[in-house]
Amino acid sequence: MIAEPIDQTQPKSWQMLLAQAVTDPAELLRLVDLDPKLALHIPQFPLRVPRDFINRMTKGDVTDPLLRQVLPIQAELQDVPGFSSDPLNERAVNPIPGLLHKYHGRVLLTPSGVCGVNCRYCFRREFPYEENNPGTIGWEKALDYIQQDPTISEVILSGGDPLILPDRRLQFLTRQISAISHIKTLRIHSRMPIVLPERITPELVSCLTESKLRCVVVLHTNHAQEIDETVHVAIQKLRQANITVLNQSVLLRGINDSVQALVNLSERLFDMGVLPYYLHLLDRVKGSAHFEVDEQKAKALVFKMMELLPGYLVPKLVREEAGATSKSPVLS
Ligand SMILES: *Cc1c(COP(=O)(O)O)cnc(C)c1O
Ligand code: SF4
Repeated sequence: MIAEPIDQTQPKSWQMLLAQAVTDPAELLRLVDLDPKLALHIPQFPLRVPRDFINRMTKGDVTDPLLRQVLPIQAELQDVPGFSSDPLNERAVNPIPGLLHKYHGRVLLTPSGVCGVNCRYCFRREFPYEENNPGTIGWEKALDYIQQDPTISEVILSGGDPLILPDRRLQFLTRQISAISHIKTLRIHSRMPIVLPERITPELVSCLTESKLRCVVVLHTNHAQEIDETVHVAIQKLRQANITVLNQSVLLRGINDSVQALVNLSERLFDMGVLPYYLHLLDRVKGSAHFEVDEQKAKALVFKMMELLPGYLVPKLVREEAGATSKSPVLS
């Protein structure tokens, strides 16, 4: 983890909440009234979950969809053929540390190797983002790269989670990005508004909206139960500032692989004025095989959603493929 400079101007609350995130699996289990003896430590990708998020879990339920996304279990340690440490071959499209340029018009920057939560299914458990986070000095190279390619019109801050950065760092980056004349859009991919909604402060909102850039925030939530009133309030702050808010999900076995779960999620998002964007098939990263939903089932689920929901509440089912020029559509 890269140490962030201490930012005296920040209100401490979200940073304190982050520092108080639970990292001991036995403590998590106790908090949700389950047997702490089920605890498993996986030091390469430890448990990390804010208490806010734990409060939304159903007590005494090992199958709780929020708990399952964060609790380390034995199945992660099994080697399954086809599941590798870099399934997308991202090292190959990584011309400069912290920058991925795979698709026309868009570059993705990874300004932080850290997230507010560690999701067990995530590619991040294997991709060396820690090495791929050059800090403020290294950004010069990434910004030069963007400056020199006028076909790029959108910069995506992804991660890790970019909203884990202090406002001051984000403001530095967004100002540099907006100074590049051909950049029109700033996009933030973040799970922070879901797992730590206190992160959406007025200072953050002004940082995202002060420049000429159009701003898009793509949330990452997988289940309606993740969205409570505090999340709702945070999202309203983004929307009131004219930020476009979308959501992407990963289709996960035992978590959201039912028509009811997916329909509820779309409706809950729409209650907040958020539209579903992508539903991703799992990236086949080592340790995540037990979350995989097969493609036939995935397609059937989305066809059923199409029967039950207006088109704008049906996310695009996609998978990411190494070497492809966009996310690959799965329905056809
Ligand atoms: C997903 C992704 C994007 C954004 O793709 P959209 O289809 O525009 O959401 C851009 N760059 C990389 C490397 C990506 O993985
Ligand atoms: S990148 Fe997103 S999915 Fe992965 S651990 Fe971070 S918040 Fe979770």
